[in-house]
Amino acid sequence: MTANHSLSTTGKHHSSHTNVAVIGGGISGLTSAFRLAQSGRKVTLYEGSGQLGGLGTFFKHEGRTFEKFYHCMLPSDGPLLALLEDLKLRDDTYWKPTTFGYWHDSKVLPLNKPVDLLKFSPLSFIDRLRVGFTGVYGRMVSDKGLDDISAVDWLTKLSGKSAFNTFWKPMLQAKFGDRFEQVPALWFWSRFNREKGDAKGEEKGYIRGGYKRIVDTLEARLRALGVDIRMNEPVVSVDLDATSHPVLVTENGKRRFDRVVVTSPWPIFQKSAGSHLRSVMPEMRKEIDYQGVINCLLFLRRPLTPHYWVATPQEQFPFDGAIESSTLTEEGDRGKGRHLVYLTKYLHRTDARMAESEDVIATRWWASLKQVFPDLRDEDLETRFVFKAPFVEPIFTKGYLKQRPPESLVPGRIYLSTTAQLYPTVTAWNGAVGQANRTIEIMEADEKAGATTAVSVEMLAA
Ligand SMILES: Cc1cc2nc3c(=O)[nH]c(=O)nc-3n(C[C@H](O)[C@H](O)[C@H](O)COP(=O)(O)OP(=O)(O)OC[C@H]3O[C@@H](n4cnc5c(N)ncnc54)[C@H](O)[C@@H]3O)c2cc1C
Repeated sequence: MTANHSLSTTGKHHSSHTNVAVIGGGISGLTSAFRLAQSGRKVTLYEGSGQLGGLGTFFKHEGRTFEKFYHCMLPSDGPLLALLEDLKLRDDTYWKPTTFGYWHDSKVLPLNKPVDLLKFSPLSFIDRLRVGFTGVYGRMVSDKGLDDISAVDWLTKLSGKSAFNTFWKPMLQAKFGDRFEQVPALWFWSRFNREKGDAKGEEKGYIRGGYKRIVDTLEARLRALGVDIRMNEPVVSVDLDATSHPVLVTENGKRRFDRVVVTSPWPIFQKSAGSHLRSVMPEMRKEIDYQGVINCLLFLRRPLTPHYWVATPQEQFPFDGAIESSTLTEEGDRGKGRHLVYLTKYLHRTDARMAESEDVIATRWWASLKQVFPDLRDEDLETRFVFKAPFVEPIFTKGYLKQRPPESLVPGRIYLSTTAQLYPTVTAWNGAVGQANRTIEIMEADEKAGATTAVSVEMLAA
């Protein structure tokens, strides 16, 4: 029998005793669980790994914790800063001016002020002016229509072909590899406007104790609110039962809930969606691919540069940038005389480089870094670590706004707060917190409206 896609809307009004499952213990799952538990719901949070924090996770070294992937905040991160306020952590954030450099021809060229661009030797003088114009125009122009044109077309039109090829293309490739041509101009516009800083220049923020502090505080608040946190318990299947209730399957068996909030990366959720759920999913783009990342974290005995970020998008290097997080963080958060540099490369999880051993990556990348900075010596390296993540950033394509998964996937039953939905907001903790807030608000509005999806009998028999 074929599935009946028409859904009926029935059901009860909001009950604070609703039994809600949250899938994923990254910042989106933690925030969702926090908001749900604060409003009196019974919450079970499933985290597949042994650590909370998702991509913001950390490891321990000599009594301190360090993020596996570089993380910082921006002054414009409203929802995240509001959450930190709620958690009474806001006073422990600290802020510093940060700068950007671009490696070219054995030199790091600062690229922070208009005068830096005027002196930017990789570009001809005319191209410098055109890139500058693109920057000014990008800040002034509205985002209307930008989802439907590619970043390649938009930037080429504004900056010209040669400036695009020399300057913008390597930046896009650094994030999206060979899929950069599909990325909409809106993605670029949004990122550009998030990181623009103000007249005083760019400023970034960090929190005393690192991102672990935020995760630990959220965990403690969740436990105090009675949330059942189930670590190392990946959800392998999400489906609807005959009464249209969500049912989750883990290695510990099946459990039925009133509602579910999914925060795991879209491809993982999609793989776990059972046949009944699939049949009632709204028409939308169901395949959303993701870029992964490799970070090699170096503990150095000397600073590398004064810049937070040095772009090295040249093909001869195995990484696209060096993020010197110690230009932002206090010594108390990293150790006296210790400087932290994250070398980063975004790649698809199927790329052969993702399968290379940590040792091979660390050795090759260190050797390459010594080519970028010839005065770097082996004695400057205290130690190094390599981390990989397969699902970081959705690979956005033109018209993504129309295909973006909805908050309310099955009204009254299954809700989404995933990285696939943040667009055009930048994929970051701030966007994830904002998305979690929005998803829970929509769930609550559905509850007030009494929306509960009932799956038809034919559908379940299909
Ligand atoms: C290199 C790098 C640099 C970054 N820099 C910054 C930065 O400077 N500032 C910033 O704000 N953000 C930054 N980010 C982005 C930020 O970390 C992410 O956008 C954010 O963590 C996404 O949170 P999330 O909870 O939506 O997803 P995730 O962090 O991906 O969390 C998803 C969670 O779901 C769990 N999970 C997956 N499948 C299952 C399952 N089947 N069952 C149960 N659990 C499951 C995972 O284990 C994970 O814990 C960076 C990310 C990377 C990789």
